[in-house]
Amino acid sequence: NSDLILHMNSVLVNIDTKQRYYVKDILGQGTFGQVAKCWVPETESYVAVKIIKNNLAYHRQALVEFSILTMLNEKLGNDEKRHIVRILDCFIYKKHLCISFEMLGSNLYELIKMNHYRGIPLSIVQVFSKQILQALVVIKEIGIIHCDLKPENILLSTSTKPEIKVIDFGSACMEGRTIYSYIQSRYYRSPEVVVGYPYTTAIDMWSFGCIVAELFLGLPLFPGASELDLLKRMIEILGGQPPDYLLREAKYRDKFFVPVGSIYRLEEDEACKGRSAYRILTEEEYEKRRSEKPMIGKRYFNHVKLEDIIATYPYRKNLPEEEISREKSDRLALVDFLRGLLEFDPVKRWSPMQASRHPFVTGEAFTCPFKPPPETPRIPVMHTVTIEHNPGVGHWV
Ligand code: ATP
Ligand code: MG
Ligand code: MG
Repeated sequence: NSDLILHMNSVLVNIDTKQRYYVKDILGQGTFGQVAKCWVPETESYVAVKIIKNNLAYHRQALVEFSILTMLNEKLGNDEKRHIVRILDCFIYKKHLCISFEMLGSNLYELIKMNHYRGIPLSIVQVFSKQILQALVVIKEIGIIHCDLKPENILLSTSTKPEIKVIDFGSACMEGRTIYSYIQSRYYRSPEVVVGYPYTTAIDMWSFGCIVAELFLGLPLFPGASELDLLKRMIEILGGQPPDYLLREAKYRDKFFVPVGSIYRLEEDEACKGRSAYRILTEEEYEKRRSEKPMIGKRYFNHVKLEDIIATYPYRKNLPEEEISREKSDRLALVDFLRGLLEFDPVKRWSPMQASRHPFVTGEAFTCPFKPPPETPRIPVMHTVTIEHNPGVGHWV
């Protein structure tokens, strides 16, 4: 394979700056290459280095990731509220493109797993939601779509306070230059991407809604075993379906929907017929369920509607009386928040700025359904994607 073979204390060198990186551990491995934990003696600190396979397609995609992250980093400067990973260096080592990032901790999937798939306290879900939204505001502002938001791509910072950063812009694209139709990880895939309708930054807000629900529940809300199964779950849990204007123009509509008069209905799926009633799973069952391959139509929760799933989700043990009433009202706010994010119509779905005004995020008392302020239109800013100090372009063969 085209991976660089790494050993303990292998050294990666930026030939231009002479900066040396001593490999100490492998943090992640994927189709793109490897992510290594590296020691930098000069700064006496660790960094994460993504070492891309020596393969043209991955190399090109990594250059896109580098230029998009550079743009975001320039925009953020030293902003205290930055919740996007900091990029540090980019160089070619033995024909492998290497990108170094600030060192971060566990990802949110690992956190969910550590909590035995029982979800994390709502107060922490609120903090993380606010931070992810701060990242999404900036991402949208410069006209970028992340395209792969999921718990695995949100990392805890190594500081002790609850802080997260969005990583992995390896699938990101500029709005208006949406080349690929097969994007987003399935559980977090928006309905418009599934049916093949031109997509916008709103697809990240759908994924964000799925992540918020999963952080609270500990299990994915839409564990679609196939795209049809995914759509069925969305429709069942949320009620409604993608609007007709969208389906009329959707490239893959006929894979899922049949026309009935002037409207569209989801195709009946044999595998979904005759499902049995559900009950609350034990911890062991949860763990088993999560590690299994998702089954068509198999439900994780003992209720069908979003409102019921959230309201009846088991309360944490030994919760004091006064906290139970607080948790109850927080859950009502959570459902209202999720409704604005998991909106089938991408035009009506809340933007990051609108969602960040929601009481669930601001901590204000929640009393009635939230009406977001109108979205201020974005003044388009032209960004030139500069990769001039990137050594990759000239050197790669
Ligand atoms: P694939 O798409 O094949 O999964 P990827 O493009 O998603 O690969 P990344 O998500 O950027 O690659 O990184 C892979 C993994 O490496 C992450 O899920 C995370 O566990 C680890 N990782 C990446 N960046 C950092 C970082 N800055 N600090 C610590 N760990 C990191
Ligand atoms: Mg990733
Ligand atoms: Mg990726």
